[in-house]
Amino acid sequence: MKEENQPQKPTHTVEDYLMRMLVMERDHGAIVSARLAELLEVAPPTVAMTLRRMERDGYVVGRGGKTLHLTPLGREFGYSVTRRHMLIEWLLIKIFKVPLRQVHDEAHGLEHAISETLEERMVEILGDPKVCPHGNPMPGFEEFVANWKPVLSMKTGQSGIIRRIHENAEDDHDLLEYLIENELLPGQQLSLANFLPFNQTCTVVANGKEHTLGLRTASQIFVELE
Ligand SMILES: [Zn+2]
Ligand SMILES: [Zn+2]
Repeated sequence: MKEENQPQKPTHTVEDYLMRMLVMERDHGAIVSARLAELLEVAPPTVAMTLRRMERDGYVVGRGGKTLHLTPLGREFGYSVTRRHMLIEWLLIKIFKVPLRQVHDEAHGLEHAISETLEERMVEILGDPKVCPHGNPMPGFEEFVANWKPVLSMKTGQSGIIRRIHENAEDDHDLLEYLIENELLPGQQLSLANFLPFNQTCTVVANGKEHTLGLRTASQIFVELE
């Protein structure tokens, strides 16, 4: 039965959009709809249609122009779904022993169904985590990860501990699989052996092994410098 005067909860599709938009706005100051189409693997006209609805429902402003932004309402719902997504990732790892390579995708099926009561209970059980298992910040804890810098900001010879694999890499199966296979994951020590901008690569050493990374891959790995 439908209750009156309840704030309308966004659809699953809109929640998926809001989660990506939050990351884009945090990192780049604005939302680029072409990039959104890539991340969500949907056609640009589909994105355009969803954005039209989202503007109508008050989640975004500025469609059509170059700078698309979340409204406070859109941001609030975006925070909420992101929090639920990250809590589920932890639950899957800690309770269900789901491997890291699967937790992001599995969480995507479940995040939409979690009630506020259950969310509070998860926060209690999991001890109020500040980051997800990949090291990405829970909404409101962006400052907590601010000192973790991308590999490419390291100086040659410098070392650090991997703390974070960016949200975009969570959606990139091949990239995530590569990082898992090579143990380039949070907690791992890593040093920068060289950085060759003309070649679009850098070489890192982790666990006694050398890895040549493309700059795009390297930009997804964040370290706490030692
Ligand atoms: Zn995730
Ligand atoms: Zn995550």
